[in-house]
Order: sequence, then structure tokens, then C-alpha cells
Amino acid sequence: MRRVFSSFDLVAVHHARNVLESNGIGSVVRNEFLSSGAGELPPADCQIELWVLHDADAAHAEAMLRFDAPPAGAREHPWRCARCGEVSERQFTHCWSCGAPAPALTA
Ligand SMILES: [Zn+2]
Repeated sequence: MRRVFSSFDLVAVHHARNVLESNGIGSVVRNEFLSSGAGELPPADCQIELWVLHDADAAHAEAMLRFDAPPAGAREHPWRCARCGEVSERQFTHCWSCGAPAPALTA
């Protein structure tokens, strides 16, 4: 299995899962019930994660999610780190994983 998406936004993770499932890619959500621990645990450990069941699907899945619009009602548009590929919520100015700065806001 490989992680293809992570977010603090449960709606965004489930939307991403729906996108993959509707394209025939099997996936599972992890850490769905850990996010309530945010503030007590390191934030990076509390993100809700989406994993594909088969490693071979990972590249395809990531490509689909990269171009997929966020769901209606999602308040924050996550951004993907150009250096390491991790996804962070918009309110973070730096990548939680490697510390690279977020891309400039375009909106
Ligand atoms: Zn990074």
C-alpha cells in the first residue's frame, strides 16, 4: 500500500477516496479518528491519510488527485510541496514534512 493523499480535512480525504473508487482504484482511509488528537500529538501524525491498496496505482491516483478540484464546502485548498510532494492545508505557510515554503497564493 502507498499513501497518496493526506489532510486534516476529513471531507477532502473522503472526496479523494470517492474519486479513486469511481476510477476503479481501491483505497483505504487511515487515521480517520486520530485527528481529534491534534494539539496533543505532533500535527504530522494526526493527518487523515488515503492509501491505495496496490502500489502500481499510486502514480495514477496522485495524478488524478492533483488535478481534481476540491469539494464544494471545503474551506481550505490544500497545496502540494514542490520539494517532497507532501500535501498541506492552505493555512500552513511551510511544508510540515520538509519545511519548504508554500507556493504563492494565486487567488
Ligand atoms: Zn515538503
